[in-house]
Amino acid sequence: MKPDQSFGNVEGITYFPGNGQSDKPVCIMGSIHGDERIGAAVLEELRKILTTTDLRSDVYLVLGNPEAYRENKRYIDTDMNRLFGVNRDVVSPGDTVEEKRVAEIAPVLSESHYLLDIHSTIKQSVPFVYCEPDAAHIALATLMGVEYIVSPPPDFRPADLVTSADNFVDRHGGLGITFESGWHKSELAVEDVLMRTKLFLQRTGACDFGLPEPENVQESKRLTIYNHVVPQSNSFIFARDFKSFDMVKAGELIGNDGDKEVRAEEDSFIIFPKTKIEQGKIACYVAHVS
Ligand SMILES: [Zn+2]
Repeated sequence: MKPDQSFGNVEGITYFPGNGQSDKPVCIMGSIHGDERIGAAVLEELRKILTTTDLRSDVYLVLGNPEAYRENKRYIDTDMNRLFGVNRDVVSPGDTVEEKRVAEIAPVLSESHYLLDIHSTIKQSVPFVYCEPDAAHIALATLMGVEYIVSPPPDFRPADLVTSADNFVDRHGGLGITFESGWHKSELAVEDVLMRTKLFLQRTGACDFGLPEPENVQESKRLTIYNHVVPQSNSFIFARDFKSFDMVKAGELIGNDGDKEVRAEEDSFIIFPKTKIEQGKIACYVAHVS
């Protein structure tokens, strides 16, 4: 299947038309954060592979943020993966590079039935998937072979947790998952993420690579975010240099907020600790085993 260049010739979007046997388009996105290089590397490999693959459904390959990718920066003006909020369902481009890019790719995302959004880190990190906790999302997340699957609870939705690309696809009736593929310095990592992305395409019915479903899948730990830490003072400091999935025991000190101590209510995992701490803004989330 030759890629069809008809998708408005928008930079960084490659559209492969399916043969009509499935009406559930799949979108694979990478490098929405421009310094997360692995997504783009996987897209480049997929572009070659899909050219000679019989596709049942339409497939879109989307380079998330081409300008930030060129500059090897997380973003140019603003974090693009916080721009898919509820009020963005009718997307009108703002002034920033990222707002314009969101407007460009929104039509693809709203049409996609499945989204795999590939992220990675430059620092060592545990691979995980972030997605909604229902069975359909979890089944897709499990294919990624991660140690943790992190989900928000239905009754706790701070803005940060509803403004990413996967949320946008979910709100349009699809299934989106965010794949944090971990630390990527090696070519091997690209191979591994590529293989899992092919499994995703196969499981979603886009095509059949003849890949066996993984046996003895390592059971992912399911975590639910139940709270966040928001500094009330301008002198909040973490008790230690937390990284995501560090554990704290019930009663253990998470940080000092002015003259107040912030302690864990129960045995918990620290999720997404920020390096830039600001008064009134989320410093980290806390999650427990689902
Ligand atoms: Zn990212």
